[in-house]
Amino acid sequence: MSIRLDKILCATDFSQFSTVALHCGVNLAHQFNSHLLVSHTVCFPRNQIYGTAASARGGEQEEQENYAFKKINQFMRNQSLSWEPLVTYGEPVDETTRLTNEQDVDLVVAASHGLSGLKRILLGTVVERMARGLSKPLLVTRVAKKRSPKDNILQTPLKIKRILTACDFSHDSQGVLGYALSFALKFNARLYLMHAVETPINEDIVDPTDAPYGEVQQFLEDKLRKKLAKLVSEEEAKDCDLKTVLFQGLPGEGLCSYATENKIDLIVVGVRHRGAFEKMLIGSTTEAVLRCAPCSVLTVPPAVLNGRVEDNKIKSKTKLKTGIVRDKRYLNHLTGEGHPENHKRLEAIYTMLDEPDMDGYFTAIDPRPAEREELLLLHSPEYIDKIAATAGKDGFSLTPDTHTSPGSYEAALLAAGGLFEAISRVVSGEFANAFALVRPPGHHAERSRGMGYCLFNNVALGAMFARESLGLKRILIVDFDVHHGNGTQHFFEQDPFVLFFSTHQYPHFPGTGSFTETGLGRGEGYTVNIPLGKGYGDGEFIAIFEKLLRPIALEFEPDLIVVSAGFDIHKSDPMGKMKITTKGFAGLTRSIMETADICCGGKLVFSLEGGYNLKTIGKCVKVILNELAGHTISSIPEPTARASRKKFDHAFKRCRHVHKQFWKNL
Ligand SMILES: [Zn+2]
Repeated sequence: MSIRLDKILCATDFSQFSTVALHCGVNLAHQFNSHLLVSHTVCFPRNQIYGTAASARGGEQEEQENYAFKKINQFMRNQSLSWEPLVTYGEPVDETTRLTNEQDVDLVVAASHGLSGLKRILLGTVVERMARGLSKPLLVTRVAKKRSPKDNILQTPLKIKRILTACDFSHDSQGVLGYALSFALKFNARLYLMHAVETPINEDIVDPTDAPYGEVQQFLEDKLRKKLAKLVSEEEAKDCDLKTVLFQGLPGEGLCSYATENKIDLIVVGVRHRGAFEKMLIGSTTEAVLRCAPCSVLTVPPAVLNGRVEDNKIKSKTKLKTGIVRDKRYLNHLTGEGHPENHKRLEAIYTMLDEPDMDGYFTAIDPRPAEREELLLLHSPEYIDKIAATAGKDGFSLTPDTHTSPGSYEAALLAAGGLFEAISRVVSGEFANAFALVRPPGHHAERSRGMGYCLFNNVALGAMFARESLGLKRILIVDFDVHHGNGTQHFFEQDPFVLFFSTHQYPHFPGTGSFTETGLGRGEGYTVNIPLGKGYGDGEFIAIFEKLLRPIALEFEPDLIVVSAGFDIHKSDPMGKMKITTKGFAGLTRSIMETADICCGGKLVFSLEGGYNLKTIGKCVKVILNELAGHTISSIPEPTARASRKKFDHAFKRCRHVHKQFWKNL
C-alpha cells in the first residue's frame, strides 16, 4: 500500500500562510525524496478578446513576474533539495489544476486561510474547488492557532504526530488508507482509523438475540474494531502505531470533533463526487472536513485511488493481460434441434480463439461452479432446487423457449461461477479486463423464473459477488443486448449501489425497458433505459455511450463495470433490427473502456449474452478482445461523426428529459 510522491507542487501566494504551506512542502519533499515545484499564479484578469493573460500590460506583467521569482527565491533560500520555481498567469485554481496535469505532479500543497465570515465561505470554496477539481491529492495546511509564522520556520522539521482517517471498508477507502499509512510510517505518527456508524449499531448487523442491548453493542463494537484493524496488513501493522475509533454519526462531524479533542495533526479523506441530490441529503464528508477541521487535511481523489496507486502496483508485475473464460462444459447445455441459443455459438467463438492471430494472446481463466449461497443472494431456493433437479435428466422445458438438458445445471453454475472468477481476477489486478465466454446467457432470468434462454442471471450474480465477496461498493452494469435485461433490472431496481444502463430495441421481447422505468424507492434514477427504434448503427450507439453513459457513470463512480454483451445488435443478426457492424463493437468497447479508465482504473468484465448469427458472432467477439487487450485502439470521433443526428437526438433528449432530475451531469 505504499505510495510514491516523486513530484510535489506547492502553491504559494506570498501571504504569511504560504510559509506554512512551504514548510509542509519542503518537509514532505525531504521525507518522500521528491522534486518540489514552488508555484505562484499572477492573478491578471484575462483579456476577453485576445484570450491571453493581460497581453496589453506587458510591463506590469514582467514586473510581477520578477517580483514573484524574487519572493520564491527568498522563501526557498538555503534549501538543500531538488526544487524549481514556477510562475504562471491566470486564475489560481485553474492554473494549479493545469500545472498538476502537465507536470505530472503527485501531490499539491496549498494553505487555507483561517478567515471567518463571508471571506471564509469564499476562500473555503477555493480549497474545496481545488480538492474536487484536482486529479491528484491535495494537502491543505492550516494554522491551528493565531501566530505569525517566522521566516526560519522552513528550517524546522514538520511534526505530524497523530493522523486520523475514515474507513468505510469500501474499495476507495483502501486507497485513502494507503496514503494515511504512508504518511504515518514516514512521520512515525500514530494512525487513528475511524469508522463512523451513521445509524446506531443494531440488529441490522447481526441477528437480534436475547442478550441485553449493552452486550450486543459491545460485541458488535469489538467486531467492527477487529474489522478496522484488519484493513492494515500484519506486516504494516508491526511498524505502525494503530488505534481504532468508532464514531456514531456522520463521518464529517466525527473526524472534526475527534481531531479537536485528540490534537490530530492531519486528517486524510477521500474526495467523493456525489450527485447534487445525494449531497443535499447527506452532505459531503470532504466539504465538512475542509470547512471545519482544526488541522491540515489531505484529500485523495478517486482518480488516484483507482489509477495511480494501483498503477504502481501493476508496473512491478508483468504486463497485464485480457482474461477469457472458456470451458467445454458450456457446450453441454443442449437446447434442442433448431434452437437459436445452441452450443454452436460458443463453438464458433472458441474456434476463433484458436486462430493463429488469436491463439496465445489471451489467458484462460478456469471457471468454478457458483456456490448455492452465492445463487441465493438473488434466486429463490425453490427455483435453484428446480434447476438442480434437471441435472442428469432428459430435456425439460422451463418455458416454451427455455430448455434444459442433462448438462445444463452444471453449465449454468459454471457460467455464473466463470464470471465470478473473471471479476475476482480483474479486481485483484491480475488481469486488466476479461471476457466471460459462457452460456447459458443470463440477463432475462428472474428471481424464481428462467426465461428467454436464461437460467441463472450471471451478470446480476456477478455484481452481487463483487459486492459481497470482494467488498466493492458500486457496480455499473451496461447491457447492449438487443433485448432488454428485465431480470437484471428487477434485481436492482431498488438498489442505489448497482446502476443498470441498458440500450435495447423497443418494443421487442421481453416488453420491458421503457424510458420511464427508472428504478424504485432508494433505487430511483439508478435504472437507465434507452429503448431504441429499429436501425440504430455504430455511430448512434457509440454516441449514446459517450453522451449518456459516460456522464452518468462519472457521477455514479462505479468500482467495476460489468457488460451484458449481446451480439444480436449486429446488422446480420436474425433476432434484431439494429445495424451495428462487426467493427462497430470495437468502438463501443473503446468507449466503455475509456469510461472504465476514468471511473475505476479500467476494471471491466464482459459476459456473453445473446447473438445468434453463427457466421459473425466469432468475429464480433474477436474485435472486442483485440480492443480490450489494446491490440487495436478504435477511433470514437470517426463513427460518431457519421451518426444520424435524428436517431441520436431522439434517444438523447428523451433520456435526458427523464434522467436529468437524477444526474446533474446530464
Ligand atoms: Zn438478446
